[in-house]
Amino acid sequence: AGSGPVLLKCEDVTKSFGGIRALTGVTLEVRRGEILALVGPNGSGKSTLINMISGHYSMTSGKITLEGVEISGRSPHLIAQQGVARTYQIPRLFDNLTVLENVRLCAKFGSADGRGAAAVDVATEEALAFTGLADKADVLPEALNLHDRKFVEFARALAAKPRLLLLDEVLCGLNPAEVDHAVEMIKRIKSGGTTIIFVEHLMRAVVALADRVAVLDQGKVLALGHPGETMRDPAVVSVYLGG
Ligand code: ADP
Ligand code: MG
Repeated sequence: AGSGPVLLKCEDVTKSFGGIRALTGVTLEVRRGEILALVGPNGSGKSTLINMISGHYSMTSGKITLEGVEISGRSPHLIAQQGVARTYQIPRLFDNLTVLENVRLCAKFGSADGRGAAAVDVATEEALAFTGLADKADVLPEALNLHDRKFVEFARALAAKPRLLLLDEVLCGLNPAEVDHAVEMIKRIKSGGTTIIFVEHLMRAVVALADRVAVLDQGKVLALGHPGETMRDPAVVSVYLGG
């Protein structure tokens, strides 16, 4: 990993909310097939960067490209069609639709769009099987525990057959066994060739999954590199210890 062609490039990405600078000059590249972890203290800009890539936040300045094609400035829907899928920290499921219907809706968008109803059905079934939800296809989300609801979020993202998957604190609230289960699944997603950027506080998950880690602090990239070395960097340690 880390030696493939560049999939995503963020160049000098800056985001202000009124007078608040959430991101300042963030520049980074993600290579195809790589897993990049985004870490940093609360308020350091991790979710903002995810929202910039997915198009949910507009750009203040800078540029984001996917395989050389500019996606910054496009709508979330168009960016999803370019092959970027995401999950949310709090699962955003339609409570009046079954698990299958929730997943099917996402299979219709993203890269699976335009391949016809049969392809949508296949993508839906594959995503349910991959996430281990096939036998819960017909239940409503409210009948599921947090782990399964999060896995429906994964299934929805995967059903769109993304090139790039964005995960924002997807392990939050899971117990240790559930975290292990999710980490194993994220490894399987990577094995399938999908590139992943994930925001995570849990260091053991970062170490288990990430090829590289980017540390954000006050909206800037403080350090970027292999997880072991980067998390031992004195500047990073000092941010984590509140020094
Ligand atoms: P993180 O995910 O690293 O905890 P965020 O990206 O959520 O941090 O937030 C970075 C900064 O941007 C914070 O100061 C936060 O208050 C601000 N921010 C994020 N989203 C918004 C928004 N929609 N409106 C105003 N300020 C925001
Ligand atoms: Mg966040």
